[in-house]
Parts: sequence; C-alpha cells; structure tokens
Amino acid sequence: MVKRLLLILGLVFQSHLFASLEVHEHTLRNGLRIIVVPTNANGRVYWGILYKVGSVDDPECKIGVSHFLEHMMFYRTDNMSKESLCDRLGKCCISYGAYTNTDWTLYHHAVKKEFLHENMQIEADRMQNLKITDDDIEKERKVILEEKTRGVTPINSHMEGAVRHVMYLYSNYAYPTIGHKHHIERISRRSIIKHYKKYYVPNNATLIFVGDIQKNEAIELAEKYFGPIPSKELTRREIVDEPINTGITSVVEKSIPEIKIQTLEVTYTFDKSILATLKDCNVAALLTGILFSPTVVSKIMKDEKKLISGGNVSIVTYRGNIALCSVSMQLRGGISRHVVEEEFLKIVQDFCNKFLTEELLINEKEKKKNFWKFLMDSPEAIFYDIADAVKGGFTVCDMNNRAKIVASITLDDIKSTAFKIFKKENLTHKVYYTPVSCSEP
Ligand SMILES: [Zn+2]
Repeated sequence: MVKRLLLILGLVFQSHLFASLEVHEHTLRNGLRIIVVPTNANGRVYWGILYKVGSVDDPECKIGVSHFLEHMMFYRTDNMSKESLCDRLGKCCISYGAYTNTDWTLYHHAVKKEFLHENMQIEADRMQNLKITDDDIEKERKVILEEKTRGVTPINSHMEGAVRHVMYLYSNYAYPTIGHKHHIERISRRSIIKHYKKYYVPNNATLIFVGDIQKNEAIELAEKYFGPIPSKELTRREIVDEPINTGITSVVEKSIPEIKIQTLEVTYTFDKSILATLKDCNVAALLTGILFSPTVVSKIMKDEKKLISGGNVSIVTYRGNIALCSVSMQLRGGISRHVVEEEFLKIVQDFCNKFLTEELLINEKEKKKNFWKFLMDSPEAIFYDIADAVKGGFTVCDMNNRAKIVASITLDDIKSTAFKIFKKENLTHKVYYTPVSCSEP
C-alpha cells in the first residue's frame, strides 16, 4: 500500500517545503509485519524490530522478565559467542540499542546500507537461536540491579512509581518495567526462556525501515532472513479493566536525595476511550500544548506570579483501559505546594472560558506543522514516529491523514476534550517531592 503522506501535508498547509514520502506496508506469510519508508538518508538505514511484549506480560512475582530478556539478547546465540555478537553489531552499526516498556520491546539500529544484510542476519539469528546460560544470567542480574538503583531519571521513576502504585490494582502496570529488587532477584533462566519462546516470534513482531531503502529491497531482505522462521500460536494479551474515578485522590509526599527542586505532579485519570481515534489524540495534544504554552500556565504561574520555574505536561495512552494526563511543575524556593496547586486548578477550571482562543489554537497547529517539518528532515525521527504509531495501535495509513485531521480541529473539539479530561473527579493523584534538606514552608 502506498500513501503519499507529505503531499497531503503540503496541501493542507499550502506549503511546498515537504517532499513526497511513501509509506509501504507488507506482511510476510509467517505474520511478520513490515513497514518501509524510503527517504533520502545519505546511504543510511534506520531500522528496528518491535516485539509486542513488555512488563504487562510478565508473570506474577517475576515482573521484569521482558526487560531481563532484552538484556540477554546481547549475549550469545547458538551461532555466535558474546564476543562475536557484540563485535559484529559494533562493526555493522553506526549505533544500536534496545529498550523495553510496559507494552513493547524495541531493538533499533542505524546502519550504513552495505551493512544492512549482516545486521538483519544477526537480528534474525537472535530471534530464533538465543542461548541463555546460568552464568550469563547471574552476570546480567548484577547489571540490572545496578541499573535499578542508578535509575535513569530518578525523579520521573519515583513519581511514576508512586502514581502507578495507587492507580493500577489488577495489572502489572502497577510496577516499574524493570521490576522491583525482589522481582529481579527471583527471575530464573527457565522463565526467561519461556518468555523468549512465547513472544519472540514473527507474528508478534513488526520490522520498520526508514532511509535509503526501497520497498522491494526491504521485503526481499525480510523474506530472506525472517521468512523461514515459523509463526506460533499467540494468546491474546488480556488486561483486566482497572477502576476509574474511584473518588479517591491520593496524595504522596516524599523527600528523596535525588530531588534537587521541589516538584508537584498533578495527575488526571480518565477512560482511554476518550482518546480512541487519531483525531481524539491530536485534540488532546493540542489542548495540553495550549494549556502549557507560554501564554497560559507558563505565563501566569512562571512569569506573572513567579510560583514555578518550569514544568511539563504529558498524556500517556497505551496503558490498559486508563489514560493519564500528568502535569509536573517545579516550584520556586519558598513557595508552598498548596498555593501552586490552587493556582493551577483555577487556571484549568477557567481554561475554556477565559484563556482558550482561536489564536492560541492556530499557534499550536503551527507548532505541529513545524514539528512535522523537523520530522521530515530526520529519517531517525520518522523511524521513532512510526514505532510510536505501531505502539499506539494506529495504522500507518491513518497517520498519513494527521495533517488533515489536525487542520479540521475546532475550538469546540478542544473544549469538549478539556471538559472530559480536567473534570474534578478525574484528579486522582498529587505527588509532591522535596529535596531531603527542604521542608515545606
Ligand atoms: Zn536495561
């Protein structure tokens, strides 16, 4: 299937900055899905394999298996020693890596085209022939426990942990993807192998190629290296619906050494069906963009009232039946969190009547347009954008209509979504972190 994404963008925004871009989709007989986007990339190809497995699929008491398996994928296969695997990846790739989240695991590579063959051969080999030894597991367990204590971004992981813990009662979403220490310590070789055999199969994976590669080349290569791998019967991921709006607002206050600036996070929880379509998601993105733009929250709370030094807002949509909108604000020294909270809630309440204007909406649409422009100049960014679309469950051909969709969004759309998200009863969590030495005035 060929879609001319950027022609549509160009028409909607009446801009000739975009060149035409083609998005192709194909599925091999064994169920492996392939997405190819040929772009000019100076002889490079950005490609990766996305497995639909994450911590939500981990067995009870062994949260972190998916992430542990991701680490083991860099060890050895029946055909390659650890040295040879690392050596070959290092030689093939300009860069490579992997990450696991609650719902997905992604292995990504940037390669000069002449190395793509070898790189794909390695990836196909470790899809079928991974060798997992007890020694390797014990070595890697230490690495993972260290990763756990180090934390990538301590403040985010602490806050997210606190919010998840009170929000999810039935599913693994309550836990960090890496698992807690006692989980990591319990993960056995058997459970990793079981996980690998169950989820690392072609019909549970998507290959994404962006860059100097044509559709037929990508499909031929995929067929050559991944085609012979048999599909397996998959059990559908089942997630029990979590309760929404239980009427409880949890307040977490904590002092931790990693926190340098006192931070308040306010989270709204709502039914994911509010974001069912690509249009809904874009409305929400425009809404949060406007709310946090230099004109509304930032202007009032940062510039005028000098309550916060910065902040951001994010909407997470892929976790079970719940979606969340989290607003994180860094408080200025000596400012009480209650004052910040009160001011923020006032702004949110008055948002539609007082602050929301056609002009702000146009500005926000313009920002989107600039973002797409940036995207089109970076094959790597296109790669991650497409990976996000796959993760979000949107078909890439839907994605092609984004420009049209965004152009059609009206102030009324924004208002109705604001009403649905920022309802009083949706305010479910307030997490407040302070540096250890700082007590609230
Ligand atoms: Zn890791």
